[in-house]
Amino acid sequence: MSVTIKKMIETSFLDWDGKIVTTLYVPNCNFRCPYCHNWPLFEKPDDFEDVKHEDVMKYLEAHKDFIDGICMTGGEPSLYPELPKYLRSIKDMGFLIKLDTNGSDPDLLQILIDEGLVDYVAMDIKTQLNGKYDAVSGVEIDIDKIKKSISILMGSGIDYEFRTTVVPTLVEVDDVVKIAKFIEGARKYVLQQFVGPGSYMEDIAAIEPYERPAFNEMVLEASPYVDNVIMRGNIY
Ligand code: SF4
Repeated sequence: MSVTIKKMIETSFLDWDGKIVTTLYVPNCNFRCPYCHNWPLFEKPDDFEDVKHEDVMKYLEAHKDFIDGICMTGGEPSLYPELPKYLRSIKDMGFLIKLDTNGSDPDLLQILIDEGLVDYVAMDIKTQLNGKYDAVSGVEIDIDKIKKSISILMGSGIDYEFRTTVVPTLVEVDDVVKIAKFIEGARKYVLQQFVGPGSYMEDIAAIEPYERPAFNEMVLEASPYVDNVIMRGNIY
Protein backbone atom coordinates (compact mmCIF):
# COMPACT_ATOMS: atom_id res chain seq x y z
CA MET A 1 0.00 0.00 0.00
CA SER A 2 1.50 3.32 -0.95
CA VAL A 3 1.19 6.17 1.51
CA THR A 4 -2.01 8.12 0.92
CA ILE A 5 -2.33 11.67 2.15
CA LYS A 6 -5.84 13.06 2.59
CA LYS A 7 -5.15 16.43 4.13
CA MET A 8 -2.24 18.86 4.24
CA ILE A 9 -1.97 21.83 6.56
CA GLU A 10 0.61 23.88 4.74
CA THR A 11 1.92 25.81 7.74
CA SER A 12 1.40 24.72 11.32
CA PHE A 13 2.87 26.26 14.46
CA LEU A 14 1.03 23.82 16.74
CA ASP A 15 2.06 20.32 15.74
CA TRP A 16 5.70 20.35 16.85
CA ASP A 17 6.70 22.56 19.77
CA GLY A 18 9.12 25.24 18.54
CA LYS A 19 8.99 24.21 14.88
CA ILE A 20 7.12 25.39 11.80
CA VAL A 21 5.87 22.36 9.92
CA THR A 22 3.69 21.16 7.11
CA THR A 23 1.30 18.59 8.56
CA LEU A 24 0.26 15.57 6.51
CA TYR A 25 -2.70 13.37 7.42
CA VAL A 26 -3.04 9.74 6.34
CA PRO A 27 -6.46 8.09 6.27
CA ASN A 28 -7.33 4.93 8.24
CA CYS A 29 -6.51 3.88 11.76
CA ASN A 30 -6.45 0.51 13.52
CA PHE A 31 -7.80 2.11 16.73
CA ARG A 32 -11.24 3.56 17.42
CA CYS A 33 -10.62 5.90 20.33
CA PRO A 34 -14.03 7.22 21.37
CA TYR A 35 -12.62 10.74 21.84
CA CYS A 36 -10.89 10.87 18.44
CA HIS A 37 -11.38 14.08 16.47
CA ASN A 38 -9.88 12.79 13.24
CA TRP A 39 -12.47 10.02 12.88
CA PRO A 40 -13.64 11.12 9.39
CA LEU A 41 -10.21 9.94 8.21
CA PHE A 42 -11.12 6.37 9.10
CA GLU A 43 -14.92 6.44 8.82
CA LYS A 44 -15.21 8.23 5.47
CA PRO A 45 -11.76 8.62 3.91
CA ASP A 46 -13.27 8.79 0.43
CA ASP A 47 -14.81 12.14 1.34
CA PHE A 48 -11.31 13.61 1.11
CA GLU A 49 -9.38 14.02 -2.08
CA ASP A 50 -5.89 12.59 -2.18
CA VAL A 51 -3.06 15.09 -1.81
CA LYS A 52 -0.54 14.07 -4.43
CA HIS A 53 3.01 13.41 -3.34
CA GLU A 54 4.30 15.72 -6.06
CA ASP A 55 2.15 18.55 -4.67
CA VAL A 56 3.55 17.99 -1.18
CA MET A 57 7.08 18.07 -2.58
CA LYS A 58 6.38 21.19 -4.64
CA TYR A 59 5.03 23.02 -1.61
CA LEU A 60 7.97 22.01 0.57
CA GLU A 61 10.50 22.96 -2.11
CA ALA A 62 8.89 26.38 -2.57
CA HIS A 63 8.81 27.11 1.17
CA LYS A 64 11.98 25.58 2.48
CA ASP A 65 13.20 28.96 3.65
CA PHE A 66 10.75 28.91 6.58
CA ILE A 67 9.34 25.37 6.92
CA ASP A 68 11.47 23.32 9.34
CA GLY A 69 9.92 19.97 8.56
CA ILE A 70 6.81 17.87 8.36
CA CYS A 71 4.52 16.27 10.89
CA MET A 72 3.19 12.92 9.69
CA THR A 73 -0.08 12.21 11.44
CA GLY A 74 -3.56 10.85 10.77
CA GLY A 75 -5.11 8.34 11.16
CA GLU A 76 -2.20 6.05 11.88
CA PRO A 77 0.87 6.51 9.65
CA SER A 78 2.46 3.20 10.68
CA LEU A 79 -0.27 1.29 8.84
CA TYR A 80 1.61 2.09 5.64
CA PRO A 81 4.56 -0.23 4.94
CA GLU A 82 5.86 2.27 2.39
CA LEU A 83 6.17 4.97 5.03
CA PRO A 84 10.00 4.71 5.14
CA LYS A 85 10.23 5.35 1.41
CA TYR A 86 7.82 8.27 1.63
CA LEU A 87 9.68 9.87 4.51
CA ARG A 88 13.02 9.28 2.81
CA SER A 89 11.91 11.43 -0.12
CA ILE A 90 11.18 14.30 2.29
CA LYS A 91 14.26 13.75 4.44
CA ASP A 92 16.44 13.87 1.33
CA MET A 93 15.23 17.45 0.78
CA GLY A 94 16.67 18.38 4.16
CA PHE A 95 13.48 18.57 6.21
CA LEU A 96 13.01 17.40 9.78
CA ILE A 97 10.35 14.77 10.41
CA LYS A 98 7.99 14.31 13.31
CA LEU A 99 5.84 11.19 13.53
CA ASP A 100 2.62 10.87 15.50
CA THR A 101 1.80 7.25 16.27
CA ASN A 102 -0.33 5.06 18.48
CA GLY A 103 2.64 2.73 18.89
CA SER A 104 0.95 -0.35 17.47
CA ASP A 105 3.75 -1.22 15.03
CA PRO A 106 7.06 -1.36 16.92
CA ASP A 107 8.82 -3.06 14.01
CA LEU A 108 8.12 -0.20 11.61
CA LEU A 109 9.03 2.29 14.31
CA GLN A 110 12.39 0.56 14.73
CA ILE A 111 13.03 0.73 10.98
CA LEU A 112 12.24 4.45 10.88
CA ILE A 113 14.64 5.09 13.74
CA ASP A 114 17.39 2.84 12.39
CA GLU A 115 17.20 4.53 8.99
CA GLY A 116 17.32 8.02 10.49
CA LEU A 117 13.90 8.91 9.10
CA VAL A 118 12.37 10.46 12.21
CA ASP A 119 13.70 13.32 14.34
CA TYR A 120 10.86 13.36 16.85
CA VAL A 121 8.17 10.84 17.72
CA ALA A 122 5.01 11.62 19.68
CA MET A 123 3.51 8.35 20.87
CA ASP A 124 0.13 8.01 22.50
CA ILE A 125 -0.21 5.98 25.65
CA LYS A 126 -3.95 5.73 25.91
CA THR A 127 -4.16 4.54 29.51
CA GLN A 128 -2.40 2.18 31.89
CA LEU A 129 -0.96 -0.83 30.12
CA ASN A 130 -3.45 -3.53 31.02
CA GLY A 131 -6.90 -4.73 29.97
CA LYS A 132 -8.24 -1.19 30.24
CA TYR A 133 -6.37 -0.28 27.06
CA ASP A 134 -9.00 -1.95 24.87
CA ALA A 135 -11.80 0.25 26.21
CA VAL A 136 -9.87 3.49 25.74
CA SER A 137 -8.64 2.63 22.25
CA GLY A 138 -11.94 1.08 21.14
CA VAL A 139 -10.44 -2.16 19.80
CA GLU A 140 -8.63 -5.22 21.05
CA ILE A 141 -4.99 -4.27 21.51
CA ASP A 142 -1.80 -6.28 21.55
CA ILE A 143 -0.44 -4.56 24.63
CA ASP A 144 3.01 -6.12 24.17
CA LYS A 145 3.42 -4.15 20.95
CA ILE A 146 2.62 -0.90 22.75
CA LYS A 147 5.14 -1.79 25.46
CA LYS A 148 7.75 -2.63 22.83
CA SER A 149 7.28 0.73 21.09
CA ILE A 150 7.73 2.48 24.43
CA SER A 151 10.92 0.57 25.05
CA ILE A 152 12.24 1.29 21.54
CA LEU A 153 11.70 5.03 21.94
CA MET A 154 13.22 5.20 25.41
CA GLY A 155 16.33 3.39 24.19
CA SER A 156 16.59 5.14 20.85
CA GLY A 157 18.51 8.33 21.53
CA ILE A 158 16.08 10.34 19.37
CA ASP A 159 13.82 12.99 20.79
CA TYR A 160 10.29 11.89 21.70
CA GLU A 161 7.29 12.44 23.89
CA PHE A 162 4.64 10.16 25.31
CA ARG A 163 1.21 11.66 25.56
CA THR A 164 -2.13 10.80 27.08
CA THR A 165 -5.42 12.51 26.34
CA VAL A 166 -7.03 12.66 29.75
CA VAL A 167 -10.72 11.95 29.26
CA PRO A 168 -12.83 11.92 32.43
CA THR A 169 -14.38 8.45 32.95
CA LEU A 170 -11.73 6.85 30.69
CA VAL A 171 -8.48 8.11 32.22
CA GLU A 172 -8.21 8.83 35.95
CA VAL A 173 -5.35 10.02 38.13
CA ASP A 174 -4.47 6.44 38.99
CA ASP A 175 -4.07 5.60 35.28
CA VAL A 176 -1.72 8.55 34.80
CA VAL A 177 0.39 7.44 37.77
CA LYS A 178 0.60 3.87 36.44
CA ILE A 179 1.67 5.16 33.02
CA ALA A 180 4.27 7.46 34.58
CA LYS A 181 5.66 4.54 36.59
CA PHE A 182 5.88 2.43 33.46
CA ILE A 183 7.77 5.13 31.54
CA GLU A 184 9.92 6.13 34.50
CA GLY A 185 12.89 8.19 33.30
CA ALA A 186 11.22 9.16 29.98
CA ARG A 187 12.22 12.47 28.39
CA LYS A 188 8.77 14.00 28.32
CA TYR A 189 5.21 13.08 29.28
CA VAL A 190 2.36 15.24 28.00
CA LEU A 191 -1.12 15.30 29.51
CA GLN A 192 -3.41 16.53 26.77
CA GLN A 193 -6.69 18.25 27.38
CA PHE A 194 -9.75 16.45 26.05
CA VAL A 195 -12.21 18.33 23.84
CA GLY A 196 -15.71 16.87 23.89
CA PRO A 197 -17.55 18.35 20.90
CA GLY A 198 -16.54 16.65 17.67
CA SER A 199 -15.52 13.39 19.36
CA TYR A 200 -16.09 10.09 17.57
CA MET A 201 -18.61 8.79 20.10
CA GLU A 202 -21.54 10.98 21.06
CA ASP A 203 -21.67 9.93 24.71
CA ILE A 204 -18.01 10.96 25.07
CA ALA A 205 -18.63 14.26 23.30
CA ALA A 206 -20.96 15.29 26.12
CA ILE A 207 -18.37 14.82 28.89
CA GLU A 208 -16.95 17.91 30.58
CA PRO A 209 -13.14 18.02 30.51
CA TYR A 210 -10.96 18.01 33.59
CA GLU A 211 -10.30 21.39 35.16
CA ARG A 212 -6.98 22.76 36.36
CA PRO A 213 -7.00 21.27 39.88
CA ALA A 214 -7.34 17.76 38.42
CA PHE A 215 -4.50 18.46 35.98
CA ASN A 216 -2.34 19.82 38.77
CA GLU A 217 -2.91 16.63 40.75
CA MET A 218 -2.01 14.45 37.76
CA VAL A 219 1.20 16.39 37.14
CA LEU A 220 2.11 16.24 40.82
CA GLU A 221 1.53 12.49 41.02
CA ALA A 222 3.40 11.74 37.77
CA SER A 223 6.38 13.99 38.47
CA PRO A 224 8.28 11.59 40.78
CA TYR A 225 8.69 9.28 37.78
CA VAL A 226 9.15 11.66 34.85
CA ASP A 227 10.99 14.96 35.26
CA ASN A 228 9.27 16.72 32.39
CA VAL A 229 5.49 16.34 32.74
CA ILE A 230 3.59 19.03 30.90
CA MET A 231 -0.03 19.98 30.24
CA ARG A 232 -1.21 20.78 26.72
CA GLY A 233 -4.45 22.37 25.56
CA ASN A 234 -6.98 24.78 27.01
CA ILE A 235 -7.20 24.07 30.72
CA TYR A 236 -9.46 26.21 32.89
S1 SF4 B 1 -5.16 6.32 17.51
FE1 SF4 B 1 -5.35 8.51 17.06
S2 SF4 B 1 -6.24 8.62 14.98
FE2 SF4 B 1 -6.53 6.51 15.73
S3 SF4 B 1 -8.61 6.51 16.61
FE3 SF4 B 1 -7.14 6.93 18.27
S4 SF4 B 1 -7.02 9.19 18.41
FE4 SF4 B 1 -7.96 8.65 16.41
